[in-house]
Amino acid sequence: MSFRKLKDLNVQGHRVFLRADLNVPIKDGIIKDATRIKETMATLNYLIEKGASVVLCSHMGRPEGIGFEAAYSMAPIAAWLEDKESLDCRLASAVIGEEVEREAAALKPGQVLLLENLRFDKGETKNKPEFCAALARLADTYVNDAFGSAHRAHASVAGIVPSFPKDRIAAGFLMEKELNALGKVTHNPEKPLVAVMGGAKVSDKIDLIRNFIGKADAILIGGAMSYTLLKAQGIPIGKSLCEEDKLELAKEIVAEAKTKGTKLLLPLDHVVAPEFKEDAPASITSNVNIPDGQMGLDIGPETLAAYLLEIKNAKTLIWNGPMGVFEMSPFAVGTLTIAEEMAKAADNKAFVLVGGGDSVAAVNKAKVAPRITHISTGGGASLEFLSGIALPGVKALEI
Ligand code: AMP
Repeated sequence: MSFRKLKDLNVQGHRVFLRADLNVPIKDGIIKDATRIKETMATLNYLIEKGASVVLCSHMGRPEGIGFEAAYSMAPIAAWLEDKESLDCRLASAVIGEEVEREAAALKPGQVLLLENLRFDKGETKNKPEFCAALARLADTYVNDAFGSAHRAHASVAGIVPSFPKDRIAAGFLMEKELNALGKVTHNPEKPLVAVMGGAKVSDKIDLIRNFIGKADAILIGGAMSYTLLKAQGIPIGKSLCEEDKLELAKEIVAEAKTKGTKLLLPLDHVVAPEFKEDAPASITSNVNIPDGQMGLDIGPETLAAYLLEIKNAKTLIWNGPMGVFEMSPFAVGTLTIAEEMAKAADNKAFVLVGGGDSVAAVNKAKVAPRITHISTGGGASLEFLSGIALPGVKALEI
């Protein structure tokens, strides 16, 4: 996968269309968490320092797509960029249209025009050609920094891109960082490569598991999805979560791993309770079987010891999905211990990539996030990338 880097693009005197991910939580006009804005500032500041003018845009929330809705306006973001980041930024009068084209044409180097929420127009999510053309008229150069939206074939990340000359298209710094990190674990990773996968449903992670069978030295499975795989081996799982309609597929996955020489490790013991409740009486099973009336809510100590050994020996690690119900403290030990071991591996120079919303929450809860080599900002996008699915927003940048 090769793409043009922002540093290799001359932007001086150019008007740059910058697709960012500014989808921040806003309540009553107040930004509750500005992380996403801060993450794209490196790209935005670089463009300004290099003498470009910027037509900045993003989606925010899920407006109906039939025009302006005050609750989803980008106005608080324009105000933030002016007040907190000291940018010369104004809010456009709309998403597209003649007036917006005049506002964009009037931009001087160093100035930023923030378009209104892309999703005020259905053309964005429907990737409509006339909407793409109208967006493309606003600038002469295209930069995409919105990795978190790259898995969607929407106008601003996919449809608009071919309207720009090939040598006027580049990835922003955040996009570059994500693609480099994800590329590192999927193309020629340093071995041993160990993938740790968990979460609620095997059906959500089938492509992910399959993509690493044959590539990874070991895949360690935890979370509710392990019970479907165990039941498919004839192991009693009590009243643990199970996707009955995926049992055949689970058998196939286990067989495929065997054929392709990837160790597929399943839990050897479990933390169980009779109910899905924080204060339910928890116990540890003496072996892999889960008794009737009990449900598995975390991996047990024997499993944890086996998984930690694999993680210790790995040079490249990928983690997607918790090992148990880590939101409830009696069932959080597996997930939090894995998080700590991941951080130790990174301290010892292994390349550790954490992707997916809940494993990101877990490394934050374990307070090890700063030690992890790369935490992917795009949950859905990184899951699809790691599952081997071509992302429309990444394909569009390919040269
Ligand atoms: P996912 O979004 O697929 O990564 O799933 C994450 C969710 O799976 C978290 O909310 C966990 O609480 C839940 N989970 C993990 N292990 C279990 C389990 N053994 N039983 C029920 N839910 C689980």
